[in-house]
Amino acid sequence: MTSPLRVPVVVEAPQHSGLTTPLDYLSEHPLKPGTLLRVPLGRREVLGIAWRPGAQLDGQALDAGALRPVAAVFEALPPLPPAWLALAEFAAAYYQRSVGELALSVLPPELRKLDATALANRQARLLKRLQRDAPASEGPMPERPTLADEQQHALAAFEAALAEPRPQPLLLHGVTGSGKTEVYLRATEQVLAAGRQALVLVPEINLTPQLESRFAARFPGRRLVAMHSGLTPAQRLSHWLTALLGHADIVLGTRLSVFAPLPRLGLIVVDEEHDPSYKQQEGARYSARDLAVYRGHLERVPVLLGSATPSLESWQRALQGRYRRLEMAQRVGGGVLPQVRLFDMGVLPREKSGHGPLFAPPVLQSLRERIARGEQSLVFLNRRGYAPVLHCADCGWKSGCPHCSAWRVFHKGERTLRCHHCGFTERVPRACPECGNLDIAPIGRGTEKLEEQLAELLPEARIARLDADTARGKGQLESRLAEVHAGAVDVLVGTQMVTKGHDFRRITLVVAVNPDSALFASDFRAPERLFALLMQAAGRAGRDAEAAARSEMWVQTWHPQHALYAALKAHDFAAFASGQLAERRSAGLPPFSHLALLRAEARDAAVATAFLRAAAECATQLDGAGDVMVYPPVPPSVSKVANIERMQMLIESGSRARLQRWLADWLPRLHQLRAQHKGLARWAIDVDPLSI
Ligand code: ADP
Ligand code: ZN
Ligand code: ZN
Repeated sequence: MTSPLRVPVVVEAPQHSGLTTPLDYLSEHPLKPGTLLRVPLGRREVLGIAWRPGAQLDGQALDAGALRPVAAVFEALPPLPPAWLALAEFAAAYYQRSVGELALSVLPPELRKLDATALANRQARLLKRLQRDAPASEGPMPERPTLADEQQHALAAFEAALAEPRPQPLLLHGVTGSGKTEVYLRATEQVLAAGRQALVLVPEINLTPQLESRFAARFPGRRLVAMHSGLTPAQRLSHWLTALLGHADIVLGTRLSVFAPLPRLGLIVVDEEHDPSYKQQEGARYSARDLAVYRGHLERVPVLLGSATPSLESWQRALQGRYRRLEMAQRVGGGVLPQVRLFDMGVLPREKSGHGPLFAPPVLQSLRERIARGEQSLVFLNRRGYAPVLHCADCGWKSGCPHCSAWRVFHKGERTLRCHHCGFTERVPRACPECGNLDIAPIGRGTEKLEEQLAELLPEARIARLDADTARGKGQLESRLAEVHAGAVDVLVGTQMVTKGHDFRRITLVVAVNPDSALFASDFRAPERLFALLMQAAGRAGRDAEAAARSEMWVQTWHPQHALYAALKAHDFAAFASGQLAERRSAGLPPFSHLALLRAEARDAAVATAFLRAAAECATQLDGAGDVMVYPPVPPSVSKVANIERMQMLIESGSRARLQRWLADWLPRLHQLRAQHKGLARWAIDVDPLSI
């Protein structure tokens, strides 16, 4: 009898369990790294992945005498490709998680529930189905538009990259409607023709159906699978298997699909690369955009990052020559971008209530003209609900959330007060809960009120609202969008949800009702986000070249002199970016420095603060402490959610590599430190945090 072999296996163990390293198990047969298996862990049996022996993962090894045998091996399944393992290892190290936690968290959850036989059965059924439903590879190639010069140039740059042994990422900076998607399609075509697979990332699940149908229409002979959180667990598993088995030509999905196992990867597209949705906001807080770039580097395939308003991080890399920048400044078909007009709300007389009017007269006039001409308008306001707070003028009561440091939002249609942080919902009280005053009134305005006021101002208009509240039910978003596309809506009201991606053909007017607040927000990324949002919104107008010349965007503002609006008026992203980058450089902010955030949560804020202070104290003893700046603990903008107090502490360094090393030294100490802070509910590190 041969003696069993030792196999390193990673299992899902959160960082704080101390199991940061692969565990050794015994196997009768050699197992390829990447093989899925089940192993005993304590009294349970869990899913694991055979890992690479000697991978650079530090931590304590187990005593060989205590080794237990692998319980079962998923033999029917090919092992996860080596590049996949390398990506997971990189992501775990970069975002300061255990490899097991990261790797297992990005596998389809259904895998955990199946034993080897059940999975083999599923796989066999899937293969049969794939064979039966094989896309018809015969048939005429669908018609493709002749590329515009700028598209042609971008595609040539892509082809050049494809031929390089180590292609550089490409930053496709193209105004809305410049035909970026067509470039993605052509790039995909090339890769597919070479027998490779394409991975296409989109920021939001809402945007997948639209892009999916464009890809499906262009490549009828190819198999496309989607990956996003809207799939059932069974669908997720079968799409994932289709990818791993090499049967998916195109994988299209949201951030989690950056981990799709693709044995023949040839291209990664990241559409709207600036979008904050690419950053995972829990668990391993990875940025799918950044991991896509790393994966491209690892697998030596081109990465195509596309946006009308690139992230300043990507823009700066392009300026440094690390990414190749491709410009598409013209709209397809010679359409022009809408004319941006600023209205200075400060010049309007105040009404008796002390408030200005909802719409400036010329803005209202523009809306009326559109309705008269049978064109559509889009009015957006980044706040949902009817009003952000209810208020009693007699005693000063406000509709605070008892569990959060936030107001509960008044939803008029549902007659509720709802907290958007913890979900706590109550019926609207008839009278003030403090003093019994019957006259409690909403303050401020959300999209629900905006819709109501628009209906009063424009009684002849057909108005539809699109926000997280109206798009909640299944199919509601699609049916509303279909109404807009069919021309059954004159004015579409909504939050930023309406500004993203949709290829509306009949909109000739966009109105930003009140975008100023982000100009002075404490988050240093607020102006970048606002600019991207307004450019996106502007991009919804005049997508039909014929109507483009008379399309416009009105911005109602109290700060018409602001540099951000000047750049917006000129549709000049480069000017905006250079102003922002200069500010960031002088303030030592990203991309000129690198940040991490240590977050702590407890019922008592003092407990969270004490943990952070102790963490800062122990940080001073680390090597390289001089390279890293640790700021004092502060509460985030909403400090209490669901009765849990949050505190956070910013860490900054001029060097990404030094920050990484330093964090890797610091983290094990934090695990130890935690034991001394009993009341602490949770703590976590967020590398490259998006909002601070
Ligand atoms: P973007 O992604 O940059 O916003 P799209 O790729 O969606 O732009 O293109 C806008 C519209 O122009 C789409 O309807 C698309 O089908 C069309 N289009 C793109 N490229 C061309 C072209 N070369 N010739 C004609 N129409 C095109
Ligand atoms: Zn009162
Ligand atoms: Zn709440």
